[in-house]
Amino acid sequence: MKIKDLYKKILFYTSVPKCVCCREKLNADDVALCERCNAEYEKTKDRICSVCFKPLGECICTNEYLERHMMRKLIKVFRYKPSSDPNERLPSNELIYNIKRGKRNDLLDFISNEMISSIKNSLKYENYIITNVPRSRKRVLKYGLDHSAEIAKAIAKKLNIEYVCVLKSKSKEAQKKTHGEERLKNASFDYISKAPDIKGKRVILVDDIVTTGASMGASAVLIRGLGAKEVVGAAIAIAFKDKYQPFVNTDFSYL
Ligand SMILES: [Zn+2]
Ligand SMILES: [Zn+2]
Repeated sequence: MKIKDLYKKILFYTSVPKCVCCREKLNADDVALCERCNAEYEKTKDRICSVCFKPLGECICTNEYLERHMMRKLIKVFRYKPSSDPNERLPSNELIYNIKRGKRNDLLDFISNEMISSIKNSLKYENYIITNVPRSRKRVLKYGLDHSAEIAKAIAKKLNIEYVCVLKSKSKEAQKKTHGEERLKNASFDYISKAPDIKGKRVILVDDIVTTGASMGASAVLIRGLGAKEVVGAAIAIAFKDKYQPFVNTDFSYL
């Protein structure tokens, strides 16, 4: 290794972490976002769900597609806001882009804590085990991690609940590149070779963004196929534009 490269590497590992949004250096008590970006991020969490009228961090509404695929509850932190300007950086979206790209412990810590506060608002989490929607093999190779699995494991550790690996991806393409019907067909998952016994369990299913619900719905059906009693989705963000479906006939008896 050249001296210059070595120097760069040392600088990288010893440098102060930067804000995932504006790239400014973080203060000692900032996690993932600087104070200014964090304030902007907090504002995006105040949005109210148009069906249950709760802030998104307390809302468990899902969409029609997920309802039809055995998922009646979807926990989320905020709504993903697509931007037409590629240079516009929104702190909430930057959190997702960066967690997808690689392991950054402070970011993992930040996101898992945000999801935990939404989970605690909606579930008696002690009664659940946790798993994730698997990332495509191609992407795991490219980025070196399955970020949803990392998030699910971090949540499991902090809440002292069990993490289980249940599914693997069969997708050839990442979901982002596919559209509409193609997207629904592309979301194909399978059980890992030694799927755990989750009969009768309540399962939290973690994913980053729920767009159509195709990946989450397909995963939920497979998990229910192993005899799980309930599958509750937990996403960092939702991006679907469909009208929310209100929850009817949902069993709240264990809450
Ligand atoms: Zn910032
Ligand atoms: Zn709602």
